[in-house]
Amino acid sequence: MSIINTFAGGPLDRASDRRTDADWIAAQRAKPDTRVIPYYRLQPLVTPGGNAIGWLPAAELSEFLGADLPCIFMGLDTAGVAHFALDVTGVEDAPTLEPFRGAGRFMDLRAIALRLPLGDPSTLATGKAVLDWHARHQFCAVCGSRTAMRMAGYMRKCGNQDCNAEHFPRTDPVVIMLAVRGDEALVGRQKSFPPGMYSALAGFIEPGENIEEAVRREIFEEAGIRVGAVHYHSTQPWPWPSSLMIGCFADAETTEIHIDGNELEEARWVSRNLLAAAYRGETGTGVLLPPPMAIAHQLLKTFIEQG
Ligand SMILES: [Zn+2]
Repeated sequence: MSIINTFAGGPLDRASDRRTDADWIAAQRAKPDTRVIPYYRLQPLVTPGGNAIGWLPAAELSEFLGADLPCIFMGLDTAGVAHFALDVTGVEDAPTLEPFRGAGRFMDLRAIALRLPLGDPSTLATGKAVLDWHARHQFCAVCGSRTAMRMAGYMRKCGNQDCNAEHFPRTDPVVIMLAVRGDEALVGRQKSFPPGMYSALAGFIEPGENIEEAVRREIFEEAGIRVGAVHYHSTQPWPWPSSLMIGCFADAETTEIHIDGNELEEARWVSRNLLAAAYRGETGTGVLLPPPMAIAHQLLKTFIEQG
């Protein structure tokens, strides 16, 4: 059975074949029952209780949908109703934003992800990642001219007729992994972690590498451990700003740790029993696990359950 991590498994049909049909997209935006999720500074609107997406009917947002604000087609629900994400960050006039504040609150996605129905964090992650990409790609990476949104938010096109370069939302692959040796797993901590927290090692895949090679390189660079076989576990979209976490286990072939001192302040082997105790929340283990929304938590949970 495949594992669906937080920020994956969104319920909407992306209907990507409709993105190039500008007339159809415009017609959906004009429908009063079309649903829109506003974002302010990349924080989505959530209901006052903080446990549901703050979808608003397009009829209430005509003023904003008529303005030239970034707006992305998110997809269709099972009833065929179109859903959009709208970036209202450019609306700096506080009173203008009051209708949104009346409907709920703008909140950080990480603070609410686990309070939302399954799959909804994925919808919000899509909106956040794509809106953030637009904010970061106002200019052409080829010639420096201004770019403009196309394909209902899934492309930006250079405005320079001699260039015409097309740019697409990016996803950056990251490997995140546990090296395993018998009943022990390799974990590390960064200086920025809360006291006692240990997690899986991680790093970006580089051009010309496959997943296995990136896993082997990162573990050796960060902890000095050589690993052999690499086993895929699951993946997780992580929209800060645009990562795809690829979770793996790796068979360790050496045991002596040498940390690089840059990325990690400590790496250590921990036993399955100690991790299990930490997972149960027992005190005195000295080990705090990453929160359940993180794929590292799911890797550690799988390792514990394999015992
Ligand atoms: Zn260009």
